Amino acid sequence: APFPLRMKGKVVSGFGRGSKELGIPTANIPVEGVSWIDEAESGVYFGWAGIQLPTSHPSLSPVPPSSSTAPPEDKVAEGWRIYPMVMSIGYNPFYKNKVRSAEVHVLHKFETDFYGSEMAISILGYIRPEYDYVSVEALIEDINTDIEVSKRSLEREAWQKGREDRYLWGEE
Ligand code: ADP
Ligand code: MG
Repeated sequence: APFPLRMKGKVVSGFGRGSKELGIPTANIPVEGVSWIDEAESGVYFGWAGIQLPTSHPSLSPVPPSSSTAPPEDKVAEGWRIYPMVMSIGYNPFYKNKVRSAEVHVLHKFETDFYGSEMAISILGYIRPEYDYVSVEALIEDINTDIEVSKRSLEREAWQKGREDRYLWGEE
């Protein structure tokens, strides 16, 4: 399927592989019912994530409408924010690698978790396939490169446009 690839759902618990301990938490979204998921290439992708944070969430400071994290005003009031993201689509080792998984690392420092929150993502590009790593250090190094690639790509005008996708604040 062509970009953007979209999916949304509530953030669920992952397999506790300790992403957070590595400093790169990944928000898991269920892939059931996502039409394009089976034919998607496994690997690392970048794009935008919209999240509806609970109104009590400490990271929900007021944002001016011009801010890069702000969707339309009424959606801001409902707790929606938009962030750049890098994500992996792969196979869930928990289900003997028969079931796909989608994990999103949001490029923003949050003060607390947001399990249960609605998250909508729009994937704009593919970075690389998945590799097997001999060391955690090598894995982290690659992820840090992915993060840099994503940030730089999303800063470009062509990808900035992708922030205006209404899907990112919960619309169809
Ligand atoms: P799990 O195995 O449950 O997915 P992780 O260690 O991957 O555990 O942590 C993921 C959780 O961390 C997310 O569900 C979310 O609530 C929280 N979180 C905090 N900051 C981020 C972030 N920048 N990107 C993704 N998730 C984050
Ligand atoms: Mg995770």
